[in-house]
Amino acid sequence: MNNLRRICILGSTGSIGQSTLAVVDANPTFEVVALSGHRNIDLLLQQCLKYRPKMAIVSRSEDAKGLADSLKSAGSKVEVMWGADALSTAASDDSVDMVMAAIVGAAGLESTLAAARAGKTLLLANKESLVMSGDLLFREIQASGATLIPIDSEHNAIFQCLPQNLSGQGGDGTKYVSKIALTASGGPFLDKPLTEFGDITPAEACKHPTWSMGQKISVDSATMMNKGLEFIEASLLFGLAPHQIDVLIHPQSTVHSLVYYKDGSVLAQLGCADMRIPIAYGMAYPRRIESGAASLDLIGMGSLDFFEPDYKRFPCLKLGIDATLQGGTTPTLLNAANEIAVAAFLGGQIKFIEIAELNEQVLSKIPCEPASSLAIIRDADSLARNITKELILKKN
Ligand code: NAD
Ligand code: MG
Repeated sequence: MNNLRRICILGSTGSIGQSTLAVVDANPTFEVVALSGHRNIDLLLQQCLKYRPKMAIVSRSEDAKGLADSLKSAGSKVEVMWGADALSTAASDDSVDMVMAAIVGAAGLESTLAAARAGKTLLLANKESLVMSGDLLFREIQASGATLIPIDSEHNAIFQCLPQNLSGQGGDGTKYVSKIALTASGGPFLDKPLTEFGDITPAEACKHPTWSMGQKISVDSATMMNKGLEFIEASLLFGLAPHQIDVLIHPQSTVHSLVYYKDGSVLAQLGCADMRIPIAYGMAYPRRIESGAASLDLIGMGSLDFFEPDYKRFPCLKLGIDATLQGGTTPTLLNAANEIAVAAFLGGQIKFIEIAELNEQVLSKIPCEPASSLAIIRDADSLARNITKELILKKN
C-alpha cells in the first residue's frame, strides 16, 4: 500500500485492540492517531509512549490527570481526553481515516455512530453497538458515505465471500445468495452434561477452547449468546431474513462462515482462529497485508466437523434468533439484560444457567417498540438494565 492510513483504535487495551496494534506493528503503512483504554491506564500509557498518538481517551477525569502527568514527565505531547463524548470526538476527528470500534458492550454505541456519521471507514468489532442501533447505523452510513467492514470473524468471512462492492444493506450482493451459515465453536461446554451446568464457574466459562478473547465475549460464547447476537448482526449487515441464516456448530473454528449461492456454489473463508486475520483484512481493504497469523495446516488438523446446535443446551442462541424476528428494541433489551447478567455471573452473584433465565424474564417484562431514535434505544437499554438488576437483587 502506498498511502498512509490514519487509525483511531477505541478499546486499544482490549483483546481486539491489542491485536489491531499487532497488525500495525507488522505494517509501516498505518499511523495510530487515537487510542482509548477506559480504566487500564498502565497499558494505555505504554501504548501512548510506543505509538505516539495525537489523542488518548480514558473514562474518568482522575485517570486522565494521572495519565497526562505520566506522559508529560516522559516528554510526550499526547492530548489526554476523558469521558464518553471524548470517544465520539476522537472517532470523528479530521485526522482519522479509519476507526476500529473495539470497545465491549453498549458503551461503544455513540462512538460507533459518530464514526459512521463522520464518514470514516468503520471497522466494527463492537457487535453490541450494531445489535442496538440496527437501521439507525445504516442510515448514518448512507448519509455520510462511510464504509462499514465487519471485523467479527464470521461476518468478516461472509463479507469476504460476497461479490465485492455489492455486499451490505442496500447493496445487491445478497440477491444471488440463498442463505448463509454462521459457524460456532460451541464453546467450552459443548459436551458437558447438562446436569453439571449449575456448577459452572466464571474461570471455566472464560476458558474458550479455540479463541482467546475478552471476558464478556468469552462468557457469551459459553452460553452461545454470542452466536445469538451474531445472528442479529448478520441479518442487519447483509439484509437477510432469519430463515436465510443457519447456525452450524464447528468445534475446530477453521471454517469461519459460508455463503450458499442460488446456483449451488458454496463459498467459505478458512483460517487459523486468530483475530489478526479479519482485522488485517478490514484495515487493508480491498488489499491484503501481512497479519502475523500462522498459515492454516489442514493436514495437521485432521477432520472438520459440523452439526446442528441444541437449543436446550444453548437457550440464549434461540433468544437471539427470536429477537431478530421481532426486531425493534428487542435486540437492545436482550443485549442490555445479557450485559448485566454476565457481569453478575462474573462477579459471583448469579449462576451460569441464570444468565439465560434472566435474559428471557426481562424480555417477557418489557414490550418491544420501533427502534426509531437513539433516545428510544437508550431508554430501552436503561430500562432493561434496571429490571435485570432488580431481578438479581430479588434472588440474593
Ligand atoms: P476486551 O474486554 O478485551 O476489551 C474491551 C475494551 O473496551 C478495552 O480496551 C476496555 O478498556 C474498553 N472498555 C470496556 N468498558 C468500557 C467503557 N465502559 N467505556 C469505554 N471503554 C470501555 O474485549 P474484546 O474481546 O477485545 O472485545 C471487544 C469487542 O469486540 C466486543 O464487542 C466483542 O464482542 C467484539 N469481538 C471480539 C472478538 C475477540 O476475539 N476478542 C471477536 C469478535 C468480536
Ligand atoms: Mg464472532
